[in-house]
Amino acid sequence: QAFKDYGLSAEIFRAVDSLGYAEPTPVQREVIPHVMAKRDLTVRAQTGSGKTAAFGIPICEGIDWAENRPQALVLTPTRELAGQVKEDLVNLGRFKRIKAVAIYGQQPFAAQKIELKQKVHAVAGTPGRVLDHIQRGTLNVERIRYLVIDEADEMLNRGFIGQVEAILELLPKDRVTLLFSATLPADVERLCRTHLRDPLHIDI
Ligand code: AMP
Repeated sequence: QAFKDYGLSAEIFRAVDSLGYAEPTPVQREVIPHVMAKRDLTVRAQTGSGKTAAFGIPICEGIDWAENRPQALVLTPTRELAGQVKEDLVNLGRFKRIKAVAIYGQQPFAAQKIELKQKVHAVAGTPGRVLDHIQRGTLNVERIRYLVIDEADEMLNRGFIGQVEAILELLPKDRVTLLFSATLPADVERLCRTHLRDPLHIDI
C-alpha cells in the first residue's frame, strides 16, 4: 500500500509528497481507506504514530472548498494539540487552499469570533471553547461531516467527556465520526456505543 493507491486528488497527493511522507505509517494504512469510504472508527494508536495525518489526509480530501461553513471538527484535550492539528490540516490542505483554525480557552473569544466569521473549512479545538462558540452561534456546525475525537482517554482524565457529549448532540447525524485513544476506558466505550454508527475497531 502506497499513498498513490488511495485515489487522492493531485492537490492532496502533492501536499503529502511535499511533507516528505514517502510511505503511509501502519495507522495510516488502516485508517485512510475506511475514512475515504465514510466508515466510523475507533482507533487505538499512540502519539507519534502518524495519527493526525491518518485522519487529516482523508478529511482534507473530502472537504469541499466551495462550502463556506465548517465541514470538519477535531476535538482535542489540550490547546497545544489543537494548534498542532490545525497546522497539520493547513499543511495537508495547502494546495487545496483549505482554511483551518484552532480555537481554545484562555484566548480572547472576540478574536476567535472574527476568525470564525471568515471562510473556514476545518476547526480544531478544546471541548469547552468549541461548545461555547456553538452555543453562542459563532461556530456554525450545520455542515459538519467529519468529527474527530482525539485522545479520548485524555478528554476523560481532564473531565471533558460531558462537553464532548454535549457537542455530539448538536452535530448533524449524517457525518463520519473517528475516535482516537491510547486506551478505551468504560466511559469512552459507552460514548462510542451511543454516538458512533457501527464503528470498526482498529488496534495498532
Ligand atoms: P502524529 O502521530 O500525528 O503526532 O505524527 C508524528 C510525526 O510523524 C509528525 O511529525 C508527522 O509529520 C510525521 N508523519 C506522519 N505521517 C508520516 C509518514 N507517512 N511518513 C513520515 N512521517 C510522517
